[in-house]
Parts: sequence; C-alpha cells; structure tokens
Amino acid sequence: MLTVPQNPASRLAAVRGRIDAAARAAGRDPASVTLIGVSKTQPAEAIRAAAAAGLADVGENYVQEALGKMEALEGVPLTWHFIGPLQSNKTRPVAERFHWVHSVDRLKVARRLSEQRPHHAPPLMVCLQVHLGGEDTKSGVAPAELPALAAGVAALPRLVLRGLMCVPPAEDDPSRQRHWFAELRQLLDRLRADGHRLDVLSMGMSADFELAIAEGATHVRVGTAIFGARG
Ligand SMILES: *Cc1c(COP(=O)(O)O)cnc(C)c1O
Repeated sequence: MLTVPQNPASRLAAVRGRIDAAARAAGRDPASVTLIGVSKTQPAEAIRAAAAAGLADVGENYVQEALGKMEALEGVPLTWHFIGPLQSNKTRPVAERFHWVHSVDRLKVARRLSEQRPHHAPPLMVCLQVHLGGEDTKSGVAPAELPALAAGVAALPRLVLRGLMCVPPAEDDPSRQRHWFAELRQLLDRLRADGHRLDVLSMGMSADFELAIAEGATHVRVGTAIFGARG
C-alpha cells in the first residue's frame, strides 16, 4: 500500500523525490528534469499553495480557465505552460500570456502564435505534439508529417522550437508504456540529425513519469499526483 501524503507541499516533495530518484537511476542529473504541475480544474489557491512549496512551472489545458487563474495569481513567480488542444481562433491569449506551448500540431496555429506574440515579450517556447499510437486522441501531428511541420515552425520569427511532446495511450504493461517514450526520443534524435537544435522531451504524467525519465524526458507534466483527483 502506498501512503498518500495529504497536503500539497508534501505531495509535491514526494513527486520531486521520485523524479530525482528516477533521474539518478538513469544516470541523469535530477536538475535536467523540470516538473510541470498540471492544474486544470484546480483552483488558483491550490496553485498558490504549490508555488509556496516550490513549484515553479504550471500547466493548463483550457484558455479561459487559465486566464482567470493567471489574474488571481498576478505577482506569483510562475512559468505558464499551455498543454491542451489549441484551436486557431483561441491563439491570441495564449500568445500573449503563456511562456510555453507544448501542443502545437499544425502550422496554421504556429503561424498565428508567432504573429500574435507581443514584441515586448521574449519569444514563445514551443513543442510539437506528436500523435503516437492510440485512437483516443485526435491531437498531435503524425510522425510522417513531423519533419515538414518542424521545418515550418522553426522558420517562424517569434517562436523557438524546443522539442516534442506526447500523450501516449495508457498501457498496463510498463515496458509497452516505455516503448512510446522511446519512440518520441527517437523522433527527436532524427530531427536533431536533420539540423534542428532541440533540447526538450515533454512526456510522462502521474502514472508513468518515471518511465518517461528513463527515456530522457526533460519536462514531466504531473497533475493528480500533486493536486489530488480532479473534481
Ligand atoms: C491532464 C494532463 C496531464 C496530467 O495528468 P495526470 O494524470 O493528472 O498527471 C498531463 N498532460 C496533459 C496533456 C494533460 O492533459
């Protein structure tokens, strides 16, 4: 039986401890893995408590919901990551308010993000979401289309293409789960061989972040293990 610590600070410390252990077990520096706390459906106060306990990066899936929390948390030093599906008519507030977008899967969306990124802000950091395997999501670019999308996004002036993201199908068998993460890593390696300077693998959630770290994840997106079940 796992004992589940009840408050956000101890949950956060427990997750960070598991990340650090997984990184060391893989011969990696724990500091090379960024923890993104995924706070969709959670109130701003839960994020405030996690930030007070040391969380620096927050992931949100829904634009309107995120904007309300950003307003409530004005002044709290946080890096905001957009990780949800992004329609091209909703890009403006994302381009204006977020620091990262992990879910770019179409050139049209990327172009709008670049055009709408304010000139006083640093460039927007982006990852391309890749569709691996499962039928349970329509999001993500097919691996075969990835080189063309990467070339198009890399040419946009107000974006910095940093790497790849995936939400693979949930597998019962850990070795099958790990296989998806290995596939994303190989896709990143191929883009690097083509000359792209990429350093980010955004993969791994509450159920599988240790497997993702073993395959090279640099950003893990963890919701329920930090904030508890979503209502
Ligand atoms: C909800 C979500 C997560 C976090 O999932 P948990 O299982 O709660 O850790 C990570 N990534 C994406 C894209 C999500 O939508």
